[in-house]
This record gives sequence, C-alpha cells and structure tokens, in this order.
Amino acid sequence: MILQVEDLYVAYGNIEALHGVSLEVNQGEIVTLIGANGAGKSTTLRAISGLNRAKSGTIRFQGRDITRTPAHEIVAMGIGHVPEGRRVFADLTVRENLELGAYLVHPSQFRKNLAEVYERFPRLKEREHQRASTLSGGEQQMLALGRALMLQPKLLLLDEPSMGLAPRLVQEIFEIIAELNRRGATILLVEQNAAMALSIAHRAYVLETGRVVLSGPASELRTHPAVREAYLGGA
Ligand code: ATP
Repeated sequence: MILQVEDLYVAYGNIEALHGVSLEVNQGEIVTLIGANGAGKSTTLRAISGLNRAKSGTIRFQGRDITRTPAHEIVAMGIGHVPEGRRVFADLTVRENLELGAYLVHPSQFRKNLAEVYERFPRLKEREHQRASTLSGGEQQMLALGRALMLQPKLLLLDEPSMGLAPRLVQEIFEIIAELNRRGATILLVEQNAAMALSIAHRAYVLETGRVVLSGPASELRTHPAVREAYLGGA
C-alpha cells in the first residue's frame, strides 16, 4: 500500500468539508474518487498533499505519517499534485513551466526527465518556446501533467483532468493517464466524468457530502444501480 487515509476530517473555518474519509491506494493502481460538486474530492487531494490541514485522522504515505508534514516536504517525498483548472504559469513558456516543475531535481537528472516528458508529450516539445497561455486547453492539461512528472512522483494526484475539455480531448487525456499507469505510475484520480474515470480505474470510491458512501472495484461500481442512477446518467 502506498497511501492510506484514515478517518480524515477537514474543515474550512466552521464548515466541515470531510467527515471521516478513509481510502487506500496500492502501488500500481489507478484509484478514482467520484462524486458531485462540493462532495469533498478536491479537499481530499489537497489534504493529502498538505495544502489543507486535517482536523483529525491520519494520512500515511509509504508507511510514514504525513498528516502534519509541510506541503513542500510532501512533494519532495514523491507526491505530485495536478490541481483543478490546470494552473500553468500563463506568461512562461512550456519549457520554463517544466523547469519550475523540476525545481527539486538535480541538474544531471533534469535533462533525462525533460527528455522523458517530451517523449510522452511530443506536442509539448514542438511548442517548447511557446507561452503556456497560447496553448489549447488540452495542451495546457498535458503541460500540467508534464510538469508534475518532472519530479518523477511515486504517487500522482490528478484533480479533474477532463474539466473544460472537448470530448475528443477528454478521450486523449484519459488515454494518456492509462498509459502513464501502464508504465508504472500510481494514480489517485478525482473526476466528475464518472464514466471515463471508471473505465480506466482499478478501484473507486464514491464521495457524498464529505463521506465515502460506496467503494469497490471500478468494474463493479460501473454496474451498481446507485452509481448508474446518480453518476452515469441512469445509462
Ligand atoms: P467540485 O467537483 O465542485 O470541485 P469537490 O468534490 O472537489 O467539488 P471540494 O472543492 O472539496 O469539493 O469542496 C468540499 C466542500 O468544502 C464544499 O462544500 C465547498 O464549498 C467547501 N470548500 C471548499 N473550499 C473551501 C474554502 N476555501 N473555503 C470554504 N469552504 C470551502
């Protein structure tokens, strides 16, 4: 097991967003966290990467308690986080964005990681000197992913990678995520696009108003009546 979240409570001021979330991610898995707007998906990811503090509960990464570990140390330990809305540095070039992603990497390792990212995303290589603001939505999502991969994370947290993308690009981004996983990446994927997320994930958790209400193999949840009704448009 690479990640273990146990009975996690997170509050924003007086508003409690997570009421005892527990979940696990094993090495080599894609685990998806699905749920409606405001269910607490982003809050869960932000708590794991140290951006939101837990009120109580425990987060363990590779057996180490990281519940109170500062965010910059959590990154250095190998948790990469691609936040919702992509958040690339708009005025910087593609290459500069990737350089910032690699701020913890030794220069000798930097070239190797950059070459790998460019090999996975040839479109980023072609646009190396272009400003990030001029990239399409899908390309910006690739850049955000590429930037996180510059640190060769052991665990990748992806927050709504399909948000705002045209259907064809959604398909492409999900293929990339599945391919990253086949090459060994362990991924915790937050998605509103439950159908796509369940199609590439091994296991899934359904979050409703800050609580896990269902979990299991993705293939089982895909056919679960409550999931079909609430998240797959009754399809
Ligand atoms: P979405 O799919 O819309 O991003 P989500 O499942 O990721 O939703 P969160 O963003 O984690 O949900 O939000 C969970 C709850 O916490 C919501 O009720 C939200 O309004 C609240 N919340 C989130 N961020 C803050 C904040 N900075 N201050 C106050 N409340 C917040």
